Amino acid sequence: MGACLCGSFAAAAAEPRGAVCFTFDDYHGTEWLEAVPLFRKYGAHATFFVVGEITPEKAGVMKKLQAAGHTVGLHSLHHCDAVPFIHEHSEEEYLRREIVPQLDACARYGLTIRSFAYPNNRRDEAADRMLFPYFDHLRAGRGPEKKTLYYPLATLPEKCPLGGTGIGSYYNSELAVLKEEIAHAAETDSVLVFFSHNIGPAGRIGRIDMPAEWLEELLAYARSLNVRLVGFEELNGLRSRGK
Ligand SMILES: [Zn+2]
Repeated sequence: MGACLCGSFAAAAAEPRGAVCFTFDDYHGTEWLEAVPLFRKYGAHATFFVVGEITPEKAGVMKKLQAAGHTVGLHSLHHCDAVPFIHEHSEEEYLRREIVPQLDACARYGLTIRSFAYPNNRRDEAADRMLFPYFDHLRAGRGPEKKTLYYPLATLPEKCPLGGTGIGSYYNSELAVLKEEIAHAAETDSVLVFFSHNIGPAGRIGRIDMPAEWLEELLAYARSLNVRLVGFEELNGLRSRGK
């Protein structure tokens, strides 16, 4: 080997920088499980948010995802927007109707859950306070300003909302822009969150879903920059690193 270390080699040999969290909402059990080998190929973990009744079949998928190192979270029983529901009814009613039935079912199946994704990304601070007794990380969207959000790892709170950027044709995603965002997360040692839904070949998925080809390209790119690819439950371990 020559004496010259090119830039990319030096970067690859350096400490990990930042973290990217790929998250997937609703429920696509078969396709999510089919994507597990792709994540494994890049040493990556994702986060999967499950909506609806936790049936024995869903619980089985959730256990397999957790066993593969991924984070599994909840996404409400009826995909009911938290903020308008609380205004119309109450926090107690939202918890009773949307949150507790899913958590109780998970407990019965021996599933530990610490993450939640807001249906339709509708959140506010009052809703966060309502949910923090039950969850550590609350996934939302980018908010009304539609700005990509970065959360410096050094100051990441133990419990926090995390706004993500949608990936899919519906969100007008561009691969080059997504890569720039991953590079920025690396440079600033920050957490960057993406969300999508199903995962599959580009021709066979919907507009709010993740093309498997894109997922592979983004995982490979993040890996080349030494960016961590982690599920939400791994974030607190990163924040306390080096202390
Ligand atoms: Zn959803």
